[in-house]
Amino acid sequence: MRMVLFGPPGAGKGTQASSLSQKFGVPHLSTGDMLRAARKAGTAVGQKAASFMDGGKLVPDDVMVGVIEERIRLPDCTRGFLLDGFPRTIPQAEALNRMLANHGQKLDAVLSLEVSDGLVVDRLAGRWTCPVCQATYHKVTLPPKLSGKCDKDGAELIQRSDDTETAIRKRVEVFHEQTDPLKEIYRSEGLLKSVDGVGTPGEVEERIRQALGA
Ligand code: AMP
Repeated sequence: MRMVLFGPPGAGKGTQASSLSQKFGVPHLSTGDMLRAARKAGTAVGQKAASFMDGGKLVPDDVMVGVIEERIRLPDCTRGFLLDGFPRTIPQAEALNRMLANHGQKLDAVLSLEVSDGLVVDRLAGRWTCPVCQATYHKVTLPPKLSGKCDKDGAELIQRSDDTETAIRKRVEVFHEQTDPLKEIYRSEGLLKSVDGVGTPGEVEERIRQALGA
């Protein structure tokens, strides 16, 4: 299964990706998580990406295509992958098609999580993330059992450096300008499955299951 999870920041892609990746037995490849790990490790890619990320802007296409090209060549991707946060521009989508075609492969589905801009801003502004396992919480709708601590590993939760009001607004604007147009391309290729992303994670998971016929 080679699938793209598509949707604005805060649509719930990361939350749904965990269960989908288990269901299909393929790795969850989040470019945002990869870049955050690269920043933490102080790699050249991480250093290049930092200022773009904090400003809510996109990291240049050549950097991102390099990151994904290297990642999907690893053996755990032989049976497929779940892309979360890539592609985000038309050149990235074209590069992905080329990479796959070079190996006689293609995408099986693009799952679009539909959420309004207002809800995205509310979700991201109240989001707390575990820096260890990347689990996400929300101060009102999904608080951790113990205030400020991850339910899974007890780590101190953090607010992402790009989950500030200004960066969130920029990220939503960038999504509409540069990423949303990909939806029409994937629709015309017959790959797009749209799912209402409003509801509890369980409700959205059920809609995804129906949309994929899985
Ligand atoms: P995310 O965790 O998916 O919201 O990504 C966080 C940030 O990482 C984005 O706001 C971008 O700055 C950067 N980023 C992640 N994926 C990409 C991509 N495919 N293209 C460009 N920038 C990206």
